[in-house]
Formats: sequence, structure tokens, C-alpha cells
Amino acid sequence: TVYRVVCTPVGEGADAGVMASFEDVTSVETAGQMRRDFVANVSHELRTPLTALIGFIETLRGPARNDAAARDRFLGTMEREAQRMNRLVNDLLSLSQVETEERIRPTDLQDVPALVESVCHSLRPLAEDGDIALEILPPDALPMVLGDADQLRQVFTNLIENAMKYGRDGGRVVVRFDTIARDPILAGPAIAICVQDYGPGIDSIHIHRLTERFYRADDHRSQQLGGTGLGLAIVKHILNRHRGRLKIESRLGEGSRFSVLLPQPPRGAGQ
Ligand code: ADP
Repeated sequence: TVYRVVCTPVGEGADAGVMASFEDVTSVETAGQMRRDFVANVSHELRTPLTALIGFIETLRGPARNDAAARDRFLGTMEREAQRMNRLVNDLLSLSQVETEERIRPTDLQDVPALVESVCHSLRPLAEDGDIALEILPPDALPMVLGDADQLRQVFTNLIENAMKYGRDGGRVVVRFDTIARDPILAGPAIAICVQDYGPGIDSIHIHRLTERFYRADDHRSQQLGGTGLGLAIVKHILNRHRGRLKIESRLGEGSRFSVLLPQPPRGAGQ
């Protein structure tokens, strides 16, 4: 706990003294520290591709000036680094927008399986490139939920992309739906959308930290796969806005399941 002590002179003459009041400023200090950590992380994440770009430009100007093969190779790497910076800036903007809107409750009813279907349709070329079977098990009947269509699409995109990226050795990603009579944490009825992969899984020591900004279970693999480390943080904030939650289950060597739980709306809600 961090206290701010304010001392005020009181009384006069022989009765003069000082009154000290203690104010608990822990939350202000914590917010300040988080902001400083965030700025330090962003600077570090931007500096890595920038340093690489500057290095390649110098090499192209100098030793590789007349080497056509090296030039092509370097330009390819430079493009990848520039794209990484572009993804990072886009994810930072998404995160800040999602945080700004977090207190505004969505009011439109959404057909979640249709949203998932449209996301899978967009991701199919990526699945085919990676030789991954992307399967959706259609639900029997699923209640509509109150939601922001673009944001929910972003949630499913991030989770399915991750399942394909990190679980690619499993060769298969399955999306299934469920209704839950009462979720103990949401304290009410919910729907669940589960994204299952059959990849290497995640060590349990990492699981509760995965939605922190820039937290990666395997730094090297995430960097190699072009990850920004912000995807699950964005998912968490979007689900907060929807009063939902993310449940992560994983077994090493068997795969991971990321389940989105969204509350069922009260009767008569939505437009
Ligand atoms: P990134 O851009 O690094 O993918 P995310 O926030 O989307 O960032 O994910 C955070 C970390 O969680 C990843 O770096 C990875 O270590 C881990 N992760 C996410 N999804 C999976 C998955 N399906 N299987 C294994 N690890 C995963």
C-alpha cells in the first residue's frame, strides 16, 4: 500500500502542532506504474524492427550495393519488419479504441454462429496455406446475444488465427458452440464458443497471464510468427465490454481450448 502523507500546521502558541493525514494512493501509483511499463514495452517492441530496418538500409547503401541477390533478400526481410510494425500500430490503435468504448454496452442482438462463419470464410485461404483443416460444428440452436458485430468478429479472428498459428502441428482447428444454463462467474446463463486446436499446448504457469499486453508464452515463436503480443489483451477488453469472459484450457502435447463466454440477454433486450 502506498500512502501520501499531508502535514498541516494546527493551533497556536503552546497548542501549536501538526496534523498528519494519510491518503491511500495505491491505485494512482499502480496506474502510473502500468502506464510507464506500457510505454517502455511499446518502445521496445517498435525499436526491434526499427533497428533491423536501419541496419539493412546501411548494408544496402554499403557492402550490398552491387549485389542483386543480397538486395532482394534484404528487401524481403525489410518488408516483413515494416509489416510487423504496421500490425503493432494497428493492434495498439484497436486496443486503445476498445478501452475507450469499454463502458458503452452494446445494444444490438447478434447471431454469433453467423459471425463465426464469416470469420472462418475470411480465414480459409490462410488455413489452406498452412494445410490446416478448419471445422465449424454447427450448433443446434443458440440464443442471440447483445454485441458489437465488428468487435466480436475481431475476438473470433484473433482466437482462430492463434489456433492456426500456434497449433499448426495439430493440423486441425475445431470451433464448437454450447449453451450454459448458469455460468458461476458470469452468474447467469451464457453461450460458449470454443476454439480448439491440437497443437503443443501451453504450460499452466503461463495461462493466467496470456491476456496481459505483450505477454508471450514462447517469445521466440511469437516473434517468428509475426505476433504483436496484443491479440489476447484486445480479446479480454472486448469481452469485458460484453460482460463476458475468456476461459483458457490447455494440455501440453494435446492442444488448447480458448472459450468465449457471452451472457444470454434478459428477455426482450436488444433491437
Ligand atoms: P501474439 O501476437 O504473440 O500471438 P496474443 O496476445 O494473441 O499474442 O497471444 C499471447 C501468447 O499466448 C502467444 O504469444 C502464445 O505464446 C500464446 N498463445 C495464444 N494462443 C495460443 C494457442 N492456441 N496455442 C498455444 N499458445 C497460444
